[in-house]
Amino acid sequence: MSKFVSRRDFLKASAALAASLSVGIRSLSAAGATRPQKRWFKGNLHMHNQWSDGHPLPEWAVDWYKSHGYHFICPSDHNIFQSDQLRFDGFHFNNKPSDLTAFEGETSLWKVVSPKSGWSKLTQKQIDEVIEKFGSDSVRTITVDGKTYVRMKPFAELEKQFVEPGQFLMIPGYEQTGGCPNGQQVHMNFINVREVFPYITADQPKAILEQTFEKGRELYGRDYLFTANHPLWRYYDFSPNDLIALPQIRLFELNNNEIVGEYDAHPQGWTPEQFWDVVNAYRASHDQPLLLGMGSDDRHSYEKPAKAWSVVRAESLSTEALIEAILAGDFYASNGLDFEDIQFDGRTLSVKIKVQEEGKYRIEFIGTKKDYDPTSRVVEVTEGPRCPTRKIDVYSDQIGRVLETVEGTEGSYTLKRDDLYVRAKIVKVSDDLKPDWRSKPAAWSQPYRA
Ligand SMILES: [Zn+2]
Ligand SMILES: [Zn+2]
Repeated sequence: MSKFVSRRDFLKASAALAASLSVGIRSLSAAGATRPQKRWFKGNLHMHNQWSDGHPLPEWAVDWYKSHGYHFICPSDHNIFQSDQLRFDGFHFNNKPSDLTAFEGETSLWKVVSPKSGWSKLTQKQIDEVIEKFGSDSVRTITVDGKTYVRMKPFAELEKQFVEPGQFLMIPGYEQTGGCPNGQQVHMNFINVREVFPYITADQPKAILEQTFEKGRELYGRDYLFTANHPLWRYYDFSPNDLIALPQIRLFELNNNEIVGEYDAHPQGWTPEQFWDVVNAYRASHDQPLLLGMGSDDRHSYEKPAKAWSVVRAESLSTEALIEAILAGDFYASNGLDFEDIQFDGRTLSVKIKVQEEGKYRIEFIGTKKDYDPTSRVVEVTEGPRCPTRKIDVYSDQIGRVLETVEGTEGSYTLKRDDLYVRAKIVKVSDDLKPDWRSKPAAWSQPYRA
């Protein structure tokens, strides 16, 4: 990483500035103390298990990430935190036994085993998977009135079982799940919180986003993350105009497991990448903080490979360091490729691809010019599967254009006077490479501006 940095031309031109950024190279603080070298940590901050409607039991899900090279996760179940409070209800289930005697002194969530599989159900298959992996002691059951209740491990127990300092970290959180009366869904993650509040509904997605964000600020104070999840599900649940109106929202999901390949953008509308550029063209021209794009897999079923994740460059594998790095935009979204390095010195964005496989690689520098057309027009969308009738905004194709393409694994782009911002997207070139956010394998840097 440092080898790459030292080679870059921009360092010669602005050594002092680059030294102050110094990500990836050992740097000295004003006091002269050596700060730890930053490194990349792979994580996923959006996933589900049987605490709500994910298929596996919690320990099976956490173990999957730990054993697949992830450094950090947030088990973000729908409208619930994995506390040790005794309960029998949750997201679309309620199995409270008529007699609680058998549960005296017990803690946590107990779910009933269902004879048939189906959405949000717990079946014997998931229990057998855990017994096979962790032994029969790891599953506790109580049978009442012919129903078998299974205890879900709370967050604190999962932490004890899986967390290893410097190797694997668990961050508490949940997904605030609900929507508008017309069926438009607005989902948001609160990351690094342990307390849930009831879903705030409203007629318009913008009001839900705004009020939920405010409530979070009131309740949680600082040191947590708020993410606006999967805007494209199906077509458009909230729009770029909503996030233009709410510059306090810094994070959205650029990639989401449940969307890629399963839902298409409306033919006249925008893709998640265009969504991102529309918001950032506006924010950059109004001197507001840019919107940052996360990769999340939002896993429910674990049969298929994970399709998106985020890689964060931080000083250590701690919740504080990761949150600080994410809010500073020092991370990228990926569905298969990795950046070896990303540097921005205030004018020039330089990136290097970490090559793990032979092949042709491409870097696209994408941005919007200052004289772009900021107007939008409204298109009526008729009702379809998971898509209530609604109006969507359609924006100028001057937004989010490829400013420069580099065929290769290293490249840089210097912002011109008329550029609002630039971001880098890296892809492995193949015959069936799809455009925009469906490119795979690919990775996306955050946007940068002068
Ligand atoms: Zn969701
Ligand atoms: Zn989710």
